[in-house]
Amino acid sequence: MNVAVIGAGWAGLSAAHTLKQAGCAVTVYESGHQPGGRARTVQSPNLSNPVDNGQHILLGAYTATLALMQSCGVDAAKHFHREPLYLGTPNNTFRLRLPRFPGGRAGMLFGLLDALGLSWQSKYHLARALYQLERTHWKISPDTPTLNQWLRNQKQTPAACKYFWHPLCLAALNTHPDEADAQIMANVLKDSLGNPDKGATDVLIANDLLASLWPTQVCRSLNLHLSTPIRRMTRSKDGFCLNDRYEHAAVILATPAHRAKKLLADLPKCNDGTALHTQLSAFEHRPIATLWIELTQPWESLPARPMLMLEDDPKRHAYGQWLFNHAHIKGSRNPHLLAMVTSDASALGSLPREKAVHYLLNQLANETDHACPMPTIRGHTLVIEKRATFAATPNLSRPANQTPWRGLWLAGDWTDTGYPAVLEGAVRSGLAAAKQLLAGQVQSRL
Ligand SMILES: Cc1cc2nc3c(=O)[nH]c(=O)nc-3n(C[C@H](O)[C@H](O)[C@H](O)COP(=O)(O)OP(=O)(O)OC[C@H]3O[C@@H](n4cnc5c(N)ncnc54)[C@H](O)[C@@H]3O)c2cc1C
Repeated sequence: MNVAVIGAGWAGLSAAHTLKQAGCAVTVYESGHQPGGRARTVQSPNLSNPVDNGQHILLGAYTATLALMQSCGVDAAKHFHREPLYLGTPNNTFRLRLPRFPGGRAGMLFGLLDALGLSWQSKYHLARALYQLERTHWKISPDTPTLNQWLRNQKQTPAACKYFWHPLCLAALNTHPDEADAQIMANVLKDSLGNPDKGATDVLIANDLLASLWPTQVCRSLNLHLSTPIRRMTRSKDGFCLNDRYEHAAVILATPAHRAKKLLADLPKCNDGTALHTQLSAFEHRPIATLWIELTQPWESLPARPMLMLEDDPKRHAYGQWLFNHAHIKGSRNPHLLAMVTSDASALGSLPREKAVHYLLNQLANETDHACPMPTIRGHTLVIEKRATFAATPNLSRPANQTPWRGLWLAGDWTDTGYPAVLEGAVRSGLAAAKQLLAGQVQSRL
């Protein structure tokens, strides 16, 4: 079967790889000049080497992504720094480290017993809330749709919110806890903290550019058209016609939701199509900011952790939430790099760039003043991805992979994966769309 995949992000590429392996003739159309989508490479004149558009992390619970990489011949042990989850500030005002084994609730309890910066009351309520979640099969009552409503209901202390719930919510959902969907947060916790499998809560950080991992491998075997935006998709006798030029029997539309909405506009009208249009119109987006800092030498005197928690407080102009120190990423391509990350970065993004960088560097100096001073900065660049992810708010109705038009499937982190907008959701959606397409093909042959 001759299939088109529109969009070469992690969703589109995982679909294309699956279809190719099943023997389909696959053509991928990508509007950008490189594959990878929102996990792409940027080259700044201020830095000596290219960097990712944002510092990404993966979890041990990203089973679909890790299996896909393996099937592409990528050895995750070689390309990722992997360690048990460690949440800690540079000066140890807070520290929670999870053992690799046991996982699940027992691991979390060990972590809490050993945690610094939380009172026994905070630890008790936190453990109780997780226990409660497990007992209700990770289902949140509709009475407390947002994370902060649920946290209040669970009597979480300000310290537990500040150091545990809020940072995890911002990192995973890129949505402020006041408006974040508590159920999506619970889904993430279920697969990580609630998962007794060894290493499910591990953090994995690539030691090279994300695009150089499996996307590059996969693209070598695909018919990939870069810099080819699809502007029009119409029904044709045998399937779909793209840009009035390319004919395909089936299509997987793996662009972001707002682009998908535009492309569906020229297809024959139907009630279900109108409903899908309404779903696609409801997505709002939130930015993520990453300040990449290149030092003259690796900063080894900071605590030997690749990822440290910063104490953000926008009222004090402290916007940074996480600091990634590549000096402590095993096998790092560039150990001179630091990345300061701010999720749901609307406040930071509204500042003039110079001011934003000034505040971030000030915060970094304040929060690390106990350590040996930071080596000299050789250069820095602030990357703000305005539409980094959709806002994971309650009652957002996310579309399935299937569409009302026969032969057309949707893929993307915004489809109904149960996950927030993350790499694992993108991969799962791509795999699901490809499997449904293949299943439809088999059915029509019967
Ligand atoms: C700064 C940042 C940090 C992040 N951090 C993390 C993290 O730590 N962990 C994590 O798991 N996730 C993280 N994410 C989210 C993750 O990157 C996304 O969930 C994932 O990349 C989405 O993949 P996708 O394939 O669904 O969509 P995209 O990557 O958006 O892919 C869609 C593709 O379609 C192309 N396209 C659009 N329109 C057209 C058209 N008309 N014709 C042809 N092609 C088109 C686009 O160019 C793009 O390549 C982060 C995202 C950002 C931006």
